Amino acid sequence: QIFESAKIRRTHGMSVLVTGAAGFVGSHVSIALKKRGDGVVGLDNFNDYYDVSLKKARKNLLSENSVFIVEGDINDMKLLVRLFEIAKFTHVMHLAAQAGVRYAMENPNSYIHSNIAGLVTLLEVCKNVPIQPAVVWASSSSVYGLNEKVPFSESDRTDQPASLYAATKKAGEEITHTYNHIYGLSITGLRFFTVYGPWGRPDMAYFSFTRNILQGKPITIYRAKNRVDLARDFTYIDDVVKGCIGSLDTSGKSTGSGGKKRGPAPYRIFNLGNTSPVTVPMMVGMLEKNLKVKAKKNFVVMPGNGDVPFTHANITSARKAFGYKPATDLQTGLKKFVRWYLSYYGYNQGKL
Ligand code: NAD
Repeated sequence: QIFESAKIRRTHGMSVLVTGAAGFVGSHVSIALKKRGDGVVGLDNFNDYYDVSLKKARKNLLSENSVFIVEGDINDMKLLVRLFEIAKFTHVMHLAAQAGVRYAMENPNSYIHSNIAGLVTLLEVCKNVPIQPAVVWASSSSVYGLNEKVPFSESDRTDQPASLYAATKKAGEEITHTYNHIYGLSITGLRFFTVYGPWGRPDMAYFSFTRNILQGKPITIYRAKNRVDLARDFTYIDDVVKGCIGSLDTSGKSTGSGGKKRGPAPYRIFNLGNTSPVTVPMMVGMLEKNLKVKAKKNFVVMPGNGDVPFTHANITSARKAFGYKPATDLQTGLKKFVRWYLSYYGYNQGKL
């Protein structure tokens, strides 16, 4: 099955290991790569950070699209080596991580396990295999932390993380840099900005708000201390998928251990955002319109548990490097999300 899934169906196709393939972004990227003829093998540990049945449903969707997922952890070096032997990956799309900023208060070690130790294990394997793959991985807009200069550009300061999650993503950027610098691995870090859409993550606000609104339960909307509304540069999943694939296609070759001899391998960082932030209450208004139900809103001052007041991406670098151009506004994207949500959870589809 791994061999079949890794098969490349296009002359210039890639063989890609997608970690976190049962996740939100990973499942979309895997299907898009497979559809265009690349070989794809997924890896995911199916942890219970959120509803495992949603991850299993994504796995079924992947299997309908001829993508095979291996159940395993990125810390399992033997498994990774075996997968590389079988599938001879040319690229790694590394999306497995412990996501979410608030959960770090409950389970800090899960962030160290996946975002630090797991990343290093994966990079060790990429460094040691006979043909080193180009690595593209998900960093996060959260690295901009409490930076107040907007829009955020890649060269802006990232030394004020507001959560342990952000700190591990920032550490990931430093760790990947050393593997590029010392071992000649081609590295691209993508700073995603609040990705949303069908098959999304139940722990994210737009998703949990939809659930509560439909169940008639109240929703909690955070505000900054000065009562200013929080704003996010919500980015639709299809745009992020295009950005991921564009960055894979332009990621260049690793140069091998002691890369200096064969010229430096690329080390790149890109924002993948939407460039048009929307406040959380405005996002809720769009959900209400789509669901045709009024939300019961509680406004609460942000408790300082890892959230930042606003995010806003400058995407000039990604546009120049691979023509990244987000095409879906929040109104349109939420409509697609709500349509998926109602159908997936068996609500009356006539509502839309
Ligand atoms: P997700 O939680 O849906 O996907 C991550 C997947 O990785 C999950 O299926 C999980 O089971 C798997 N995983 C976690 N730890 C693992 C491990 N040790 N070994 C193997 N599998 C493991 O999250 P997502 O929203 O799809 O995010 C994908 C990536 O993008 C993550 O790195 C995340 O930090 C990053 N990111 C996401 C957003 C967003 O808005 N969705 C924003 C910024 C950054």
